[in-house]
Amino acid sequence: MQVGPKTYVFGVPKFETKAGVILGTKQVLVVDTLHHPSEAKVLKDAAESQGREVGWVFYTHWHGDHTFGGQALDGLFVSSDKCAEQVQKRFSREQLGRLAAQDPRYPADFEVRIPSITFSDAMTIDIGGACVRLERWAGHTPCSAIAVLEQDGVVFAGDELFVQCHPWAGEAALARWCSNLKRLMDVGSDLGTVVPGHGPVLTGRDIRREIGAFLSYLEGTLATASGLAAKGIAIEEAMAYPGFPQIGCEMTDNEIRMRQSSIERACHEIWELQSVRGL
Ligand SMILES: [Zn+2]
Repeated sequence: MQVGPKTYVFGVPKFETKAGVILGTKQVLVVDTLHHPSEAKVLKDAAESQGREVGWVFYTHWHGDHTFGGQALDGLFVSSDKCAEQVQKRFSREQLGRLAAQDPRYPADFEVRIPSITFSDAMTIDIGGACVRLERWAGHTPCSAIAVLEQDGVVFAGDELFVQCHPWAGEAALARWCSNLKRLMDVGSDLGTVVPGHGPVLTGRDIRREIGAFLSYLEGTLATASGLAAKGIAIEEAMAYPGFPQIGCEMTDNEIRMRQSSIERACHEIWELQSVRGL
């Protein structure tokens, strides 16, 4: 799907994961790499069909559904420094070997490419005729970053934004994530197109509506946790409370697991806050 003169978005049905291809005059910057090297080949083919090579590969964050396709791509790998650290730490050779043995979609020599170029808060990459700004926002995970191409009016939010599905929130900073979403609403509305890590690409009025819906879900989860904490109940009991918000009515096993990750994160954040205040 083309979302701007220089910008294309590719997706796979599994969790509606998204990746992007941004065309410079000579080189291409790829945003995230999908779940498998076989899926990432479409990103490389898109660059080559335009007579260009992949010069840069940007990981928005360390999770496998954004980094596992990297082996199919050449070029310089770039991410936040915290993301590069996590990629190196989390995926041992043994683990990846086991994954490849279980799942034929991974090659026998499966590896996750580790970014060699990193930034702490932000950096800009000139790909020839276009500058892409990378910024670490650290809501979804401490390493999460976004990419902005002002010329095309596009922001790739990575997993700072999930649209119409439950997020994985196991490493999230929920209060910070909520402020990030308010900022994304403004930045995205000014630019015109927002590409989430999962779910449909947003344009026009859908930007405020869908980001607003996701923000309400996270704020509602925090508010529910806060209400339970105020009643003085134990955190374990709060985590099992059935009245937390949910997105949509279809709850697959995966959605149930994802929703629970938000509930547990919210409870940890609220109970931590309470213990700090109690000192
Ligand atoms: Zn993801």
